[in-house]
Amino acid sequence: MIKNRRVGVMGGTFDPIHNGHLVAASEVAAKYALDEVVFVPTGKPWQKASRTVTGAEHRYLMTVIATASNPQFTVSRVDVDRPGPTYTIDTLRDLRGYYRDAELFFITGADAVEQIISWKDSNELFDLAHFVGVTRPGHDLESSGIDDHHLSLLEIPALAISSTDCRSRVADGQPVWYLVPDGVVQYISKYALYRSDNA
Ligand code: ATP
Ligand code: MG
Repeated sequence: MIKNRRVGVMGGTFDPIHNGHLVAASEVAAKYALDEVVFVPTGKPWQKASRTVTGAEHRYLMTVIATASNPQFTVSRVDVDRPGPTYTIDTLRDLRGYYRDAELFFITGADAVEQIISWKDSNELFDLAHFVGVTRPGHDLESSGIDDHHLSLLEIPALAISSTDCRSRVADGQPVWYLVPDGVVQYISKYALYRSDNA
């Protein structure tokens, strides 16, 4: 059991993981003096039921590759291994069981902050973790209406990168170098992910 730690939780579909995710986690880790940031790739994301999401093992492995070089970054399989759609409340309950006495900081981009209050069991969410909303180009961070006791806002360097854009770049034969870590570029190519003949 791991005690008395300050642990960031970076949830995402990570389809694929990109430098925007990594900068968000790194900035929050520095600002909040976190001991660790655990990246949690979703199983089946309930918000994304309409599009085909890449298999969880590919997304999990890309997340491992992207975070391997940072000693503070780890990856959790809690969502990948839980059957059914992924809800953040379940993620936090599971992580709470593992990081017993840790203080949890759930990291979200500005677009996800807008949705937090619509998430399942949002009141219990705030009991389980403090939420940190980071700026993201194209999204307004000020308008969530959530009490600042539960949610802090943090300005981070603006990286106008999204997984959606990375996928369509690969499908169009455009490069994703420097948008995602080198190992992820190579993983995408090795397994021919996101190719238009594959989508
Ligand atoms: P998609 O386009 O498939 O939705 P995405 O780029 O939004 O992918 P997600 O896996 O949906 O990536 O995002 C995981 C978390 O990372 C969310 O909280 C999201 O707001 C945040 N995030 C993603 N990209 C950025 C970015 N460029 N800057 C800051 N936060 C980001
Ligand atoms: Mg998204």
